[in-house]
Amino acid sequence: MPTAPAALGRLVEGRIGRSARVTSVRAPAPGFLEVEMDAEAPPGGWHPGHEVQFRVTPTQGRRYTVRSVSGPDARRIGLLAATAADGPGTDFLRRLRPGDRTTVLAGRHRPLRERGARRLYTGDASALGTLDALAGGGSSPTVVVEVPARAAAWVAETRPAFHVLAAAPGPGAELLRRLERELREGAFTEVDGAVLLGHAGTVQRARRTLLAAGLDRGACTVRAYWAEGKRGL
Ligand SMILES: Cc1cc2nc3c(=O)[nH]c(=O)nc-3n(C[C@H](O)[C@H](O)[C@H](O)COP(=O)(O)OP(=O)(O)OC[C@H]3O[C@@H](n4cnc5c(N)ncnc54)[C@H](O)[C@@H]3O)c2cc1C
Repeated sequence: MPTAPAALGRLVEGRIGRSARVTSVRAPAPGFLEVEMDAEAPPGGWHPGHEVQFRVTPTQGRRYTVRSVSGPDARRIGLLAATAADGPGTDFLRRLRPGDRTTVLAGRHRPLRERGARRLYTGDASALGTLDALAGGGSSPTVVVEVPARAAAWVAETRPAFHVLAAAPGPGAELLRRLERELREGAFTEVDGAVLLGHAGTVQRARRTLLAAGLDRGACTVRAYWAEGKRGL
């Protein structure tokens, strides 16, 4: 529902809206915003990686991902948003203050398909929260993330297991360069599953590169989060 008539937006909100109270908002590094909320859970409860949506204007919805779930009754959800987009979604999150009441649209959690035992995860700033949620477990996957140069030191310091790349001009350029180089040099040969998140053009090119290097088509999950010139996905 990136864009929908206001009446339809209200209908969806009435069906899957969960009431929430903002508990904290902070900018941990340039280009990022961390928001925590105490939110009524959907059926099945909240899960790291849960996809949610906000009605950021009466006619527009924007999607985000639950990065963390905490609190005694697992109602405290954390989101990590990249602020480069500067559309109504980013504006909506920027305006939130502790104590504000809002509505999170969420259904039952449908986990992303993650195949393989030795996985590669890639993403950009918009996917950093999802990468935290998915790759934070005990399986030690390989995680390659491209972030704005001014935030690269913070990401590297707070996520020492991730390969952090400072973005060059052009979304995904640095990530694709690294992926192609590593494959040429024989790295990632053990990888038997991949989850590619973030900029639409980059996830498609990364997928093609991995398939050409021999990864099984069914072992590669892609989830586009944004595309140039496109408002909401
Ligand atoms: C399932 C799903 C989960 C997502 N989870 C997260 C998440 O946890 N955290 C997060 O930060 N984002 C996440 N996103 C991406 C987020 O929804 C988009 O970035 C969204 O477009 C931002 O809305 P906006 O209104 O600020 O900008 P829009 O009005 O949608 O876009 C304005 C313009 O900004 C550009 N743009 C959009 N997004 C970006 C970006 N990330 N970086 C640079 N330029 C951009 C495009 O050119 C677009 O035309 C997710 C997307 C999906 C589909």
